[in-house]
Order: sequence, then C-alpha cells, then structure tokens
Amino acid sequence: MALIQCSKCGESISDQAIKCIHCGAYLKEKPANNKLILIGIIIFIIIVGGSLYFYFKKDSHEPKTPIYHDIDGERI
Ligand SMILES: [Zn+2]
Repeated sequence: MALIQCSKCGESISDQAIKCIHCGAYLKEKPANNKLILIGIIIFIIIVGGSLYFYFKKDSHEPKTPIYHDIDGERI
C-alpha cells in the first residue's frame, strides 16, 4: 500500500482508495467490477474451449469413411 497524490487536490491518499478522502474525487473512472468482468471472460473461454475440445475429441474418435471412386463402372 503506497501513497499517491490526488489528481484533483494534490493531497496524499492511499492508492487502494476508490476516491479521495480530501476532496471526494474518484481515482478511477470505473471503480468496480473489473475483476468480475475478468472472471466472466475466463469462464467464457473455459466453456468455449471445453466445448471445442470435446467436439474435436469426439470427431477424431469417429472412423472416417474413405471416399471410394468407383472405377469399375468406368470402362472404355
Ligand atoms: Zn483529492
């Protein structure tokens, strides 16, 4: 925890403070929900990544039928 200067009044305040205790100015424009947004993004990536993983895993287990070219029917 360090002390920083308020950009509005110049008083020393904690860098952990959301707003200045002297003049009441907010230090950050959006003080809340940054962590929640980050957690949401991580959960979204895990869900999408997991879905893709199981999709391709399932796909690779299925035997792929080779494409047959019927050359018997083509007689010159
Ligand atoms: Zn201030």
